[in-house]
Amino acid sequence: MNQSLIPTEDISQTSSSAQPISVAAKTAKKVREDLRMGRQYQQGRINWITAIAMGLFHVGAIAALFFFSWTNLAVAMVMYFFAINVGIGMCYHRLLTHRGYKTPKWMEYFLTICGTMALEGGPIFWVATHRVHHQFSDQEGDPHTPHDGTWWAHAGWILSGRALHSETALLGRYAPDLTRDPVHVWLSKYHWLPLTVAGFLQIALGAALAAPGHRIVGAVGMVLWGTFLRTSLGLHATWLVNSATHLWGSRRFETRDDSRNSLWVALLTGGEGWHNNHHAHPVSARHGLAWYEFDVNYYGIWFLSKIGLAQKVQVAQFDPANPKPAGM
Ligand SMILES: [Zn+2]
Ligand SMILES: [Zn+2]
Repeated sequence: MNQSLIPTEDISQTSSSAQPISVAAKTAKKVREDLRMGRQYQQGRINWITAIAMGLFHVGAIAALFFFSWTNLAVAMVMYFFAINVGIGMCYHRLLTHRGYKTPKWMEYFLTICGTMALEGGPIFWVATHRVHHQFSDQEGDPHTPHDGTWWAHAGWILSGRALHSETALLGRYAPDLTRDPVHVWLSKYHWLPLTVAGFLQIALGAALAAPGHRIVGAVGMVLWGTFLRTSLGLHATWLVNSATHLWGSRRFETRDDSRNSLWVALLTGGEGWHNNHHAHPVSARHGLAWYEFDVNYYGIWFLSKIGLAQKVQVAQFDPANPKPAGM
């Protein structure tokens, strides 16, 4: 079945044919059709591995509430910062998807490992899916538009569908910059590994910090907070960017999609909630364009640039007298 999803023609081989333009155009059209991610193309299938994993993480998140300690809370907050702010906001989204700034390769790989800690898949899946979202925002083919239902936009699109996250070759056509890089290919295949290693480290740390006789409670409590609860909260924070900020909030720019600016989603995600700004200026590494638009992920990028670890930082200039995106 999956065979039919893979284009039979290869762009590199067809470019030398007698009618390169029409063949290339046909191939591009086929890739677009194969990657159509809207709800109508998903045939209502459930991805059981994803659904069971999500279920287990949510059960663990509720269980964590019975193991509160200030240390567990601190570990969860640090892990959340590195997974959601550094990993997803600064790296998967603003660096890898939109190339809003540059870092040395070793730094890019470190930031990508942080991104895998969010359990949102490997970099190739995340980047390709998000580039498709920008291409078809709130139109046919958008992987997660609220036009297909609020729940679909939030989590439904993850739980059901054609399981494209394993289709690295196909998704790679939307992320050729990453599929050329063996480290990103490896991290895409083993994206679950850093999270698993971190989980075992939390078990060891929780046991080590607990008093004798309470080591099992200490180990279980720390991994429930540092992995299960904070991962579940991080997933919902990210999903709110797909659901809530395409439904509720203010629109500064007249973009062709329904994107909105949402303060509360920005607070949960470290700035990703300024989503209307972002759709208007996708390459900008800064999403909170006005000084009062809290954007901790941009402050992180700004900090990296000050210590010489980020270059060519793209920053959109907001002109209050002309609130329209560049080029519109
Ligand atoms: Zn969007
Ligand atoms: Zn984006």
